[in-house]
Amino acid sequence: MLSLQNQRQPKTSALVDDYEISDTVLGLGINGKVVQCTNRRTKQNYALKVLLDNEKARREVDLHWRVSGCKHIVNIIDVYENTYSGRKCLLVVMECMEGGELFQRIQDKADGAFTEREAAQIMHEICAAIDYLHSRDIAHRDLKPENLLYTTSQPNAILKLTDFGFAKETFTNDTLQTPCYTPYYVAPEVLGPEKYDKSCDIWSLGVVMYIIMCGFPPFYSNNGLAISPGMKKRIRTGQYDFPDPEWTNVSQSAKDLIKGMLNVDPSKRLRIQDVIRNKWIAQYNAVPQTPLCTGRMLKEGEETWPEVQEEMTRSLATMRVDYDQMQIKALDKSNNPLLTKRRKKIEEIYGTYGTA
Ligand code: ADP
Repeated sequence: MLSLQNQRQPKTSALVDDYEISDTVLGLGINGKVVQCTNRRTKQNYALKVLLDNEKARREVDLHWRVSGCKHIVNIIDVYENTYSGRKCLLVVMECMEGGELFQRIQDKADGAFTEREAAQIMHEICAAIDYLHSRDIAHRDLKPENLLYTTSQPNAILKLTDFGFAKETFTNDTLQTPCYTPYYVAPEVLGPEKYDKSCDIWSLGVVMYIIMCGFPPFYSNNGLAISPGMKKRIRTGQYDFPDPEWTNVSQSAKDLIKGMLNVDPSKRLRIQDVIRNKWIAQYNAVPQTPLCTGRMLKEGEETWPEVQEEMTRSLATMRVDYDQMQIKALDKSNNPLLTKRRKKIEEIYGTYGTA
């Protein structure tokens, strides 16, 4: 299916013909700035992300563009390929998320004004984005607080996921499933390794839900520095709890759901289908309106919030590497002839099995 998505080509005309670039910086990311820009004709404001044009940037833009029709994913308006001081750049014009980050909004709520039902509604929105991605065989792999943004600061604002810098097409939808070669007869277990990438998103969902419910993360590093061996062990062995008094009034269903998402074994971890069918998510309107202490705890921990973000960033980076290796090992164990071609390709990239 060489579909519409492949017809999406960046414009080669100059972005500045259509948009005026402002000095307002909306955010800083690892790959540079996100600034505001204004459509010259309509005067509408947008966010502009500038990426150096390379293979990684192309993949980010391609995957993000493909899924940007989802209500809970930041919409891409236009993409340009322009040259600046001799360097080829990809310029991504996105809808401007004026409502800021998810946890800032929760923190700004008055004490006691944030309830378990609202938490469930937020999780329902994030899960809709992940379900949209996973059902299209895309894993985001960088789901963390700063990538969850609100459209406006109004009460009816929509929460959306952004930043596809680590997104990955999972194996099933890759070269084995080209238009003329769809292996309908491949047993599901052979396609297994894809589940690792997706399970990374579910772990993130578990951590984000935990923080939404109480205002602090499930795993801390003891020294507050880089991801410590102790913290890595706690993540790997699933050592976290639901301490009193913050968790005392939280429903058992919410705790059970978090446990399912933070299962240390990625193959036993819930999948997005399980999560969206879970009563606490599916029937979020029936969840008790128990007041949560999230806003207060976020305010108290404001100074350490950058550390919480850094820790999650590092944990996700570690997990992506670990899971890539587990995938390769899982592939190595299967002996389906259909995979021989792919193995050769992976070998070219990663070297010989067992050493990767
Ligand atoms: P990177 O991939 O470099 O980390 P991101 O895409 O995460 O970049 O963007 C960095 C920051 O810019 C985000 O955390 C957010 O604060 C801000 N930002 C990104 N996209 C938008 C947008 N569409 N509207 C408003 N702010 C945005």
